[in-house]
Amino acid sequence: MPPLRQLSVALHAARRTQLLFSTARQHGRVSARHCSCSAPQQLQHTVIVSSEGPANVQLKSTTADPPTPPTDHRTLAQTHNLFITSPYSPGSPLILPNGAYVFQKLQSFLRAQYPQFGFQEVITPIIYKKSLWEKSGHWENYAEDMFSVQGRGTTAQLPEAEGEDGEFGLKPMNCPGHCLLFRDEIKSYRDLPIRYADFSALHRNEISGALTGLTRVRRFHQDDAHIFCRPDQILAEIEQTLKFVGMVYNTFGLGPYKLLLSTRPKDSFIGTIEEWDRAEEQLTTALNNIGSDWAINEGDGAFYGPKIDIILKDSNGKEHQTATIQLDFQLPQRFDLQYQASPEELESGSQTSMDAGLDPSLRRPVIVHRAIYGSIERFMALLIEHYAGKYPFWLSPRPAIILSLNSDPKVLDHVSHIQSVLSGSKAQDAPVATSSSGPKPLPLSTIHLPIDIDTSDRSLGKKIAEARVKKYNHIIVVGGREVESGGMNLQIVNQPNEEATVEVLEKAIGKQLSEKDMSKDAVNVGLGVARKYFETLANSFL
Ligand SMILES: [Zn+2]
Repeated sequence: MPPLRQLSVALHAARRTQLLFSTARQHGRVSARHCSCSAPQQLQHTVIVSSEGPANVQLKSTTADPPTPPTDHRTLAQTHNLFITSPYSPGSPLILPNGAYVFQKLQSFLRAQYPQFGFQEVITPIIYKKSLWEKSGHWENYAEDMFSVQGRGTTAQLPEAEGEDGEFGLKPMNCPGHCLLFRDEIKSYRDLPIRYADFSALHRNEISGALTGLTRVRRFHQDDAHIFCRPDQILAEIEQTLKFVGMVYNTFGLGPYKLLLSTRPKDSFIGTIEEWDRAEEQLTTALNNIGSDWAINEGDGAFYGPKIDIILKDSNGKEHQTATIQLDFQLPQRFDLQYQASPEELESGSQTSMDAGLDPSLRRPVIVHRAIYGSIERFMALLIEHYAGKYPFWLSPRPAIILSLNSDPKVLDHVSHIQSVLSGSKAQDAPVATSSSGPKPLPLSTIHLPIDIDTSDRSLGKKIAEARVKKYNHIIVVGGREVESGGMNLQIVNQPNEEATVEVLEKAIGKQLSEKDMSKDAVNVGLGVARKYFETLANSFL
């Protein structure tokens, strides 16, 4: 007999499914949990590979390193002081500075990639009036997973919101807000695709028994995005998104992962079979073009469109749904989204069942929901276990610590100066600030690094031992000799890709490190060289 907790989760899910299907039968058109916008969950079932899938469905390995032995992310997170939980906020962890550093690196990494993939970031509300959730279908089908919020009544701003008297819902997904943005102005076929990205906090009222660390939470953030495109743009958008996923997972050394195409459900779906066939054909072509192994999950698409899920194996061998790409023919209808058709569309008279009721000169866009990390919190948990404390420098909350050899004031001054320069808060040759000059703004391009110092009067051996336990990537030692030379003694102690790291260091110091240099473990480097070396590591995602 399964534990009660699992049973209640299953019952909860069954209830939702039942509700979805009974409503689908009655009305034909319903909204429900949008898979792409769901917090990805650890898969409880084995994925059955359809015989219609490609013959070879072996997982594509995307990393040279095999998964590390299993370790729970909650235990590992303690070593690096990443987050805490509190009975005052069940399911909503409190992220400590080190955790926030990793979280923001993940965010800023994607943010830096958005221009090359054409995404524009938007900022949308956390709470919306009940009437929005009624329009999107969430109030009907998702209410038990949502937090309701009581605000002051602002009725009569919308005719359909009359008498609501301040009833709001905390958003579990971003899609409805993005639909409001899309329909704010009349769109032409030339405007599409429009790609809105959003890192908003989302809330889902998960049952308390299911809450765990960063993996099952009530408050989380997604690297969420919605692409509004013409039907003829689906193929190109899916291909681009799959390339984006591959690029991101390669950067993190994550894998193996597999791609799973979920197709039209047997019974409940909107649109015509021909429209589904066309959409599935485009997804299939994109999957074939991308050259990765993939499989079909027959009939497992949502009723509103087919989807591609990316299933990642964690260090424990468990499978997680992380990235997802989901077509949606339904939400554009619910929100009456439209664009002025292209000359080709007008000529072919290509209105689909989605366009029913529209003026002949108009068409409805298709929405592609997509997330690459999925929930950033869950992705962080996966990374914590994947790296097992050995974070790459660019992502590490502890890239380096400077240890003083003694308590000589000159040594302590030098430690402080090195810390300022290596962390990026001060240029090496910056003039000493005077009371009249005041602080100057640092450029936005500055790479900031959380460089720690240990100037306690304990023995160097003890300080080094502690720094090793805390898994710093580098240990820097400073004594009288380093004060004179203006440099430091630097040692690489904890880097996943050590060979490439040493190459960067050699390039920075302008010479190959000899056997003798390496045997000494630490290398003498100048301050400017060390900063340049750190910047290169950060920019190379090492
Ligand atoms: Zn969505």
